[in-house]
Amino acid sequence: MYLELLNKISIINNVVLESRILSDDKEIVKKFVDAGRKVLKADYGYAFRWNKVLKSFDLFYRDNKTPFISKIPRKHGITAKVFQQEKPYYIDHASSLRSDAKKFMEGAVVIPMTYHQEKYGTIDICFYDKHVFAQEEKIICEYIGNSVAEAIRINHLNKKTERDSQKLLKQKDEFFNIASHELKTPVAAIKGFVQILNQKMKKVSPETSYFLDKINLHTDKLSRLVNDLLDVSRIETGKLKFKKITFELSDLLKEVIEGVDVALPHHSISFKNSHRFWIRGDSEHIERVIINLLTNAAKYSPVGSKIKVSLEEKDGKARVNVEDFGIGINKKDQLKIFKRFFQSKDSSKSSGLPGLGLGLYIAREILKHHGGELHFESKRESKGSIFYFLLPYSKHRIIKK
Ligand code: ADP
Repeated sequence: MYLELLNKISIINNVVLESRILSDDKEIVKKFVDAGRKVLKADYGYAFRWNKVLKSFDLFYRDNKTPFISKIPRKHGITAKVFQQEKPYYIDHASSLRSDAKKFMEGAVVIPMTYHQEKYGTIDICFYDKHVFAQEEKIICEYIGNSVAEAIRINHLNKKTERDSQKLLKQKDEFFNIASHELKTPVAAIKGFVQILNQKMKKVSPETSYFLDKINLHTDKLSRLVNDLLDVSRIETGKLKFKKITFELSDLLKEVIEGVDVALPHHSISFKNSHRFWIRGDSEHIERVIINLLTNAAKYSPVGSKIKVSLEEKDGKARVNVEDFGIGINKKDQLKIFKRFFQSKDSSKSSGLPGLGLGLYIAREILKHHGGELHFESKRESKGSIFYFLLPYSKHRIIKK
């Protein structure tokens, strides 16, 4: 008998586990009604939910074996009593039942869905024939009532946590949106004045020239951060603008690599290419994607290491690979890397200036807009990573619009 009881408890335990991934109360209740019917070897089952606002019950779930549609429970009937007293009620003969139910059952149990003062409703498990409930079955019924209520409570908590984090993310977006708008003008002004200074002071001491270069470099960095912030809110609101021109990808790659070579003096970038790919889209945005991948490759790899760029044809798309020999990406972070504001703890080991964790998110959105994709492979034993993107292309300069 104990073995049988344990077996039944383990069936309910499985339902408890399965219900953890459900986000719909009805699905959760359905699972427990079905399991209750199975372990009690009953004929059918249904559930009423208590509506806190209307202060009444409604029929929440009814399995397809239930032969009748039960009326809404009476104020002083069995369901209401079970719900108030939080104790199952066992019916082993039909005389105490309402006329609509009497025809279809001789035995039943009404189980409250309740746990630690949280009450959600009741579950009815019914038998066509008379049924005398054994002690072991009564234990199971209480366990079902508590477990279903706990599962619903966890579901509500999960939903609340999800809502709260969405709200926080929205507030964060709003804050960054305002802050970046406010920062945009002064940053542009600093950049403009540094340029004027550079032109006016053509013959300055090496020290002054060094400082001016540094101001320039950091202003560029600041203006990129401000732009990233602005673009995130543009992406979120669907306002990021894309031009449509036709450009050649290998030419663009060469141009960008030459451009960043100066800004990344501690790495040698090689470029291997054997194809020409005509792309229809916004070359400035694609340029940003490439710059981001190259600066990350440099930022997260040791001084003096190589960065290999290659361009190839893959599954009918143009594929650009950016390979570095740096810190790589640990397993735990691999799922989060494209999330907004995500930065790995490992990145503190890198030598580069910290970013905001937006570059990859923006890059992926830009590529998605072009019908493309962004992925990565982290090489084992800390030998770096390969970030690669795919873009639809044409072999001809003239692309049909
Ligand atoms: P940022 O570099 O500004 O932090 P990104 O969105 O470009 O933001 O990158 C997000 C995170 O992904 C980085 O903080 C870093 O932890 C990780 N990452 C990106 N590129 C690489 C790379 N080539 N090697 C190792 N880690 C990387």
